[in-house]
Formats: sequence, structure tokens, C-alpha cells
Amino acid sequence: MRVIILGTSAAFSAKDECCSSYLIRAGGKNYVIDTGSGSFSVLQKHIHYKDIHCILLSHLHADHCSDIYTLRYAIYVTQRDGLRENPLPIYMPRSPKQTYSFIRGAIKNEFLIEEIKDGLTVNLNELKVSFLRTEHPVQCYAMRFEYNGSSVVYTADTKYFDKLVSFSRRSDLLIAEATLQNIDRSMEEMGHMTAQTAAKLAQGADIKKLVLSHIWPEYDRSVTFHEAKSCYDGDLLIGKQGLSFVL
Ligand SMILES: [Zn+2]
Ligand SMILES: [Zn+2]
Repeated sequence: MRVIILGTSAAFSAKDECCSSYLIRAGGKNYVIDTGSGSFSVLQKHIHYKDIHCILLSHLHADHCSDIYTLRYAIYVTQRDGLRENPLPIYMPRSPKQTYSFIRGAIKNEFLIEEIKDGLTVNLNELKVSFLRTEHPVQCYAMRFEYNGSSVVYTADTKYFDKLVSFSRRSDLLIAEATLQNIDRSMEEMGHMTAQTAAKLAQGADIKKLVLSHIWPEYDRSVTFHEAKSCYDGDLLIGKQGLSFVL
């Protein structure tokens, strides 16, 4: 399994860093996790859009799903040109209702929507995906991916909660949101983590490699790194588009 980071900026794109998106390649198939603003362009540095096998959206905040609106046209083109026969499966929550209805209303035959629910496990070809509802202002899901004895967990957007530790436990790679720094610790209650909290999560879950992502675009990432490093013994990296891991 190969995990490629496409974007790690929270809320809005930073210079040279788009919003949340990840590509997982496993068993010759391509899975796109979140489609934050700007990410569809970055995706095409790695694969052609005709070769996407499934899209999974953790939640329907714009920094995780906005490129789905334009990606739709690309999928339409592949169908028109006979490069894709069936609609592309897309896993996503059904709320917030207004955003869901807007996406649903824009789709013709490009996507086949599957609903994500808490505790759901699906086998997408040889890739097993489990979902855990997170603590965030809208319905949002962390995801655990398992393939051929390797595992990766993506926290999506969330504040810390105990179940996240058991859900992440001993994964080979943890991609954790680290929107905040120590200076704004009080904002964790709004549904995000500081880098230090993400590091404590990784330490508690016995994670070998931690990648911090979903970082506030105006923040100095070296501060994020140092705050996390003080609480984590494993291999620590700051996420960046183009970083890739073979598990
Ligand atoms: Zn976000
Ligand atoms: Zn969010």
C-alpha cells in the first residue's frame, strides 16, 4: 500500500499547499481520501482521473470536499469518452443536509453515493476500511485502512477522545490533524487538536510513524513540529503535498 499526501492545509489553501486530500494506492487500485480545495490538480501529478476507483469524504466541510464539484466534470468526461462505464463510488456522510443536498443535486450519473455510518466496515477490493465518528461540529469520520498486513489511520477533523486511541492502535502510519498550536489550546473544544495532543494520541496508541496534517495555513510549521516532538518518541513528520509512504 502506498499513501501519498496531496494537501495538508486547514480551512483554506496555503501557498503551495492545498487543503486536505490523500491518495491511497493498493492492489492496483486508487482511493482518494477527501477532496479539499486545490487537491484535484495535485492528484493529477500522480494519477489520471480515469483511474480513480473510489472517493471517501470524511466530512462535508469545504476544506475536505469542495473539489468534488469540479471533479464531477472530469468524471463526466471519462464517461462521455467511454473510459468509464459505471458511476464512481463515493462514500460520504449524509449531513449537513444542505451541503449533502447541494452535492447530491449537482450529480447526474457521475457518482454512486454510499453513506458512511459510525462503525461501518467495508471491503473495497482488497482494501478494508473502517469508520469511526469523530468529535467535530459536523458529522465526520476517522478512517482505518488495512491492506496486506499493513494499516494506516486518518483522524480526519476531531478533538481528542479516548476511542480514537483504540481505533488508531498500532497502525503503521497515523495521519493526525494538528490544526492548533499550544497558544490556542482552549480551541480544542471546537473540534480540533493541537500538535501536542496529536502527539499524545500517537504515543498512547503505540504508533511508529506520525504525520501531522490539517495545519492552520498561517502557522509556522516548525513550531508545530517542536511542540509535537516533546510528547512523542516515534518517527515524526510534518505533512506536505507529495510526501509518500510505502507500507
Ligand atoms: Zn478541516
Ligand atoms: Zn472540519
